[in-house]
Amino acid sequence: MSVAPEALIDRLIEIVGSENCLAREGELFVYECDGLTLDPQRPIAVLLPATTNEVAEIVRACREFDIAFVPRGAGTGLSGGAHATENSVLIECSRMNRIFEIDAEDRFAVVGPGVVNAELSTAVADLGLFYAPDPSSQQACTIGGNVAENSGGPHTLKYGTTTNHILALEMVLPDGRIVRFGNRVGEASGFDLVGAIVGSEGTLGIVTEVTVRLTRIPEAVETLLAIFDDVVSACRAVGRIIRSGLVPAALEIVDRRTIEAVEASVYAAGLPTTAGAVLIIELDGDPVCMDEEMRSIRESCDAEGCQTIERARDDAERKRFWRARKGAFGAMGRLAPDLYVHDAVVPRVHLPAILEKVGEICDRHRLKLANVFHAGDGNLHPNICFDRRDADELARVIRAGEEILEACVAVGGVISGEHGIGVEKRDYLHLVFGEADLEPMYRLREAFNPDGVCNPGKIIPTTRFCVESNPKARGYDAVPIE
Ligand SMILES: Cc1cc2nc3c(=O)[nH]c(=O)nc-3n(C[C@H](O)[C@H](O)[C@H](O)COP(=O)(O)OP(=O)(O)OC[C@H]3O[C@@H](n4cnc5c(N)ncnc54)[C@H](O)[C@@H]3O)c2cc1C
Repeated sequence: MSVAPEALIDRLIEIVGSENCLAREGELFVYECDGLTLDPQRPIAVLLPATTNEVAEIVRACREFDIAFVPRGAGTGLSGGAHATENSVLIECSRMNRIFEIDAEDRFAVVGPGVVNAELSTAVADLGLFYAPDPSSQQACTIGGNVAENSGGPHTLKYGTTTNHILALEMVLPDGRIVRFGNRVGEASGFDLVGAIVGSEGTLGIVTEVTVRLTRIPEAVETLLAIFDDVVSACRAVGRIIRSGLVPAALEIVDRRTIEAVEASVYAAGLPTTAGAVLIIELDGDPVCMDEEMRSIRESCDAEGCQTIERARDDAERKRFWRARKGAFGAMGRLAPDLYVHDAVVPRVHLPAILEKVGEICDRHRLKLANVFHAGDGNLHPNICFDRRDADELARVIRAGEEILEACVAVGGVISGEHGIGVEKRDYLHLVFGEADLEPMYRLREAFNPDGVCNPGKIIPTTRFCVESNPKARGYDAVPIE
């Protein structure tokens, strides 16, 4: 581990105060990874700024000392985007957690990047509004992290991902300048740089303020739990529901192994442990449509051999169904010491076959698989339970992951639905992009982050182009694609 130059630490303490500059080994230990526990890397310091100006000053100080910096929210990311890189500091935005403005008429809120996702919806609930993107980690993850990852969630099917809900951004550029893109009315003038920044995983700068779109809480909500013998029948029911013309608010599948883990945990929701899979279906909208839509859902599920369908009688029961889904990753801690949460998307029509394929890959590699996923979006999360102290098992986990990605791409899918590329999938981008496709991405990163000092080595792999066009560029040390 590199050590921070004393003069840099002194300068950083001047900016944020000693209590907000963590540099002792014990303090840094907990920051050596995010939700991706492979390849941990300890930062040389962690800064906790409270304002945009402090972020800008930290960035300028790092530039002066030639130190790279990595933005960080709550560290729940699953692709290593918030991992420190060699000789870098983390700039953690959790103290920038103020809601500056709420406008119920124009339906927007202006918030700091450290605001926790679920707390924003709570803050606007009395106005009949909510913030629609709802990652399953929403009790912890931040709006800044959501913007950087273009996060989705169970309700992405109807409401879209984060990019559909961001109106404007303030950002500190990697040279310390403060810039603003977008506007409150959500109409683009010129290039859509808000669109480019959302999903850029902290490689273009540090987002310091976010103007989000707020959505009206639907008048009626119905939540159903359909029980199936196996996950493939549940996937077929998803296809049938969409073909029937309905777009529910959410269509989520939880398989048997996940149900067993959930039911043995604090998230227990009374799901039947004998079921092969459950499908959570949420409908929302106009109350007069609900009965007819539920009838149609029942028809689609019955046609795929559904055992029973339970309907949440009230809000408490609805929360119980969702507790099982949203607590699933936590509950999997019961299955093995480590969990590799995969994330890939296939066209919905291929879901049944790809789920069979994923099962076959994991069986062949003798790995324990648990599935819980956003089926309505075709967004798989094959979760591989393992013990990273077993080197042979770890190698099989990595190989199985590669085969899963290849299988998804082979049917027209992509290698990430919502968890981003980070360091985890950087070297697999070539599965979906050619060098010519990647070149505009390098150029975009160069325009914002020419020396690669802001979150180096994330998202895009090395190519000759990077080094030739900017010999000073750093962090581009991935396997070169030829
Ligand atoms: C149990 C669990 C369930 C999850 N479920 C979902 C889900 O349903 N949907 C989903 O999409 N994701 C999910 N995730 C992944 C993760 O929660 C999201 O990616 C989330 O948006 C990360 O937010 P964070 O605040 O933790 O960001 P971090 O993990 O700290 O950072 C994520 C990325 O954002 C960048 N970043 C953070 N803050 C800023 C900033 N202010 N400016 C610029 N860049 C920044 C970092 O550099 C990094 O690249 C889940 C994770 C867990 C552990």
